[in-house]
Amino acid sequence: MGPDSWHWDGRVEASFGMSSSDQFDVIVVGGGVAGLAAAASLAESGAKVMLIERKPHVGGRAYSYEHPALREVVDSQHVLLGCCTNLIDFCKRAGSEDKIRWYNEQIFLEPGGRSSTISLSGMPAPLHFAPSFLTASMLGWKDKAAIARGLAEFVRGFPEEDNESVESWLKRTRQTERAVRHFWNPIVMATLNDRVAECSTRYAGKVFHELFVKSSTGGRLGIPKVPLSEFYEDGARLVELHGGKLRLRTSVEAMKQLPGGGWSVRTAEGDYTAEAVVLALPFEQIGKLLPAIQIDPDGDSSGHLALANLRSQTERFTHSPFTSVLLWYDREITDLDHAWLLDTTIEWFFHKSRIRGYAPELGSYLEVVIAGSRAQLGMSREEILSSARRELETFFPKARGATLVKSGVLKEARATFSVTPGLDQFRPQQRTELSGLFLAGDWTATGWPSTMEGGVRSGRLAAGAIVGDPQRFMAAETPASGLMRWLARSEQVGAV
Ligand SMILES: Cc1cc2nc3c(=O)[nH]c(=O)nc-3n(C[C@H](O)[C@H](O)[C@H](O)COP(=O)(O)OP(=O)(O)OC[C@H]3O[C@@H](n4cnc5c(N)ncnc54)[C@H](O)[C@@H]3O)c2cc1C
Repeated sequence: MGPDSWHWDGRVEASFGMSSSDQFDVIVVGGGVAGLAAAASLAESGAKVMLIERKPHVGGRAYSYEHPALREVVDSQHVLLGCCTNLIDFCKRAGSEDKIRWYNEQIFLEPGGRSSTISLSGMPAPLHFAPSFLTASMLGWKDKAAIARGLAEFVRGFPEEDNESVESWLKRTRQTERAVRHFWNPIVMATLNDRVAECSTRYAGKVFHELFVKSSTGGRLGIPKVPLSEFYEDGARLVELHGGKLRLRTSVEAMKQLPGGGWSVRTAEGDYTAEAVVLALPFEQIGKLLPAIQIDPDGDSSGHLALANLRSQTERFTHSPFTSVLLWYDREITDLDHAWLLDTTIEWFFHKSRIRGYAPELGSYLEVVIAGSRAQLGMSREEILSSARRELETFFPKARGATLVKSGVLKEARATFSVTPGLDQFRPQQRTELSGLFLAGDWTATGWPSTMEGGVRSGRLAAGAIVGDPQRFMAAETPASGLMRWLARSEQVGAV
């Protein structure tokens, strides 16, 4: 669709004809992945778009920055998976696809160094991981039988209802203690960033189905090779390439519904107006902005009710934290790029110097991560650091002989929202009850947990809602492969 044919929700574009530099077809508030995806989709289809971001960089929570004390550009590890089709498509369009390093195998280490590798085989899905799973030493036969029984529940798909917790599902399906400790728990923590008691089986089931069952590509692990803000700069350029305007360091402080339709958005720099506004903000920021949203007093009174409903929806969400420990050693302490660290507080390590292709002589730059890290929020930097180092040394003895050159601890108290049982009914659609006001953000109704893929989906769904065709900007789902072409429930594909 070219610039001349852009229209929103059935209205002809002739109604715009805006000439002022402060007037736009769509203003997107928030330059995280959700806002970038919404702005890029709309700008690519010819809309005059303004993207407003209060920080000096785009990417939102997926960001990197120069740490003043460490004098290094740092970020908290973000990974993607083969099933993140919208994020991958967004990266392709933005030209950042080559900045992702892909891995087909996962290494699980036990304290003492015993290692199990789960890797792709030539077998058809859902048996693609079976050969390596059968030989994995981290699990006994009873554990493997329990896991196979558990995964069999997700061959057709995942539950439609989100009221059962993963904890309850693990008990109901009689999972063994070691299967929980060495398989289910780590996968749930890594993908949903919270404990099994706090996550619904719908989302965990989606993860198990997409990663282990549906196709041989859905579980591939992708890791950005560059710091995150650099990774997402390409997304901002994509918006600008299609005529979109980007305002960084600009915070939206208030909004007003205009009598003739459209919205005015207030920032410290001045006001901007648009026919439609997408609020691509996290739920707590929406909660803060709501009191500053003024509805047209002559308009429909249902607007106030819509805002009140939105407020009560945001109150149903809870955060789950994430802690990263960054370590720079004077020499390489392992030749692995990444691995799961079983039976520890630090659940994974990422060998960032290897992933990014730095020369081995420069030593090891590592990040060890603790998902759902509530306990660490109250701990001091030194406590977290010394415990992480102690645990790391049980896996990599070479770390004991190496000199730690510098280190940092990054705590993100509001890293993700938890997909708690029963939350789905409170995840709002991207189209609100208020004309011209749309929502995006990983927490809106996407059918995905709190992830970059969920963010991109929400932005594209919001853009689709604006043009009156919700699926218009969505990428195709990972196709079922092998035997799964006949076994998977097709109606769940793309379910939001
Ligand atoms: C430490 C950590 C690790 C993570 N690991 C992963 C991972 O491995 N894989 C994965 O897929 N996901 C991961 N996530 C989750 C992922 O980062 C988020 O799900 C995703 O980035 C959410 O994007 P968003 O655009 O919805 O929200 P955000 O990224 O929060 O974007 C919202 C933006 O709005 C801006 N903003 C807020 N208020 C205003 C205002 N008033 N005016 C203007 N701008 C405003 C903010 O500055 C921000 O840039 C992780 C998150 C964290 C924090």
